[in-house]
Amino acid sequence: MALPILLAVVAMTLIIAVRYLAVSGAFAWATARRMPGVYARQRRQIGREIYWSLLSAGIYGLPAGVVAWGWQHRGWTLIYARLGDYPLAWYPLSIVAFLLAHDAWFYWTHRLMHRPALFRIAHAVHHASRPPTAWAAMSFHPWEALTGAVVIPALVFVVPIHISALGVVLAIMTVMGVTNHMGWEIFPRRFVEGRGGRFVITASHHQRHHSDYRCNYGLYFRFWDRLCGTDRGLGVFHDDPRRGSADGKP
Ligand SMILES: [Zn+2]
Ligand SMILES: [Zn+2]
Repeated sequence: MALPILLAVVAMTLIIAVRYLAVSGAFAWATARRMPGVYARQRRQIGREIYWSLLSAGIYGLPAGVVAWGWQHRGWTLIYARLGDYPLAWYPLSIVAFLLAHDAWFYWTHRLMHRPALFRIAHAVHHASRPPTAWAAMSFHPWEALTGAVVIPALVFVVPIHISALGVVLAIMTVMGVTNHMGWEIFPRRFVEGRGGRFVITASHHQRHHSDYRCNYGLYFRFWDRLCGTDRGLGVFHDDPRRGSADGKP
């Protein structure tokens, strides 16, 4: 029994690693086309970001592989494959439920990791990217990676979700993780500065976390930051004429 589980863990690790390299690579390529040379002086930093991210892939792969094996061979989890098993309206609601739960978990663990002692141990690696690049999406110390790795594998035991809806959640997680770090805003300004941007976190919001540190802790939504008074609004980028001292300094 141990060997099939090990194989599932290795397969998941490879899938997560390849997914990271493909998505980060695609957005790094898009960044190079949009702003040639913007990462030119960050080669060593990018090397570190890739190193920590691939290490994180192994940590994410462990619970994901065990749960995937259990789902297939032991009937674990509430993941369902037949659309008719739950009302159709649950399909989009399950996606929202996963994102809200992940966001809440991320906000509070992230805030905790900004306490000085924990920051040094678990979170300094992520903030060593100054400013972050598209390769920083999974650039976490193993302790931090562990806090992120358990969320989705735990949620599938308590919230029913169709296998393809889970794919949507993972796609949103992966793409937002990359775009929020790549150094420019991919969403239209009308959205980011409009009603949508008041609730949804995009690169402009997370950029401010990387420049100011003690604010904007959220992942997908701004609810927790607003509720807890830690929302300091949007940051600015390399190519923004309003750019001041907010780029990459503690
Ligand atoms: Zn942080
Ligand atoms: Zn970040």
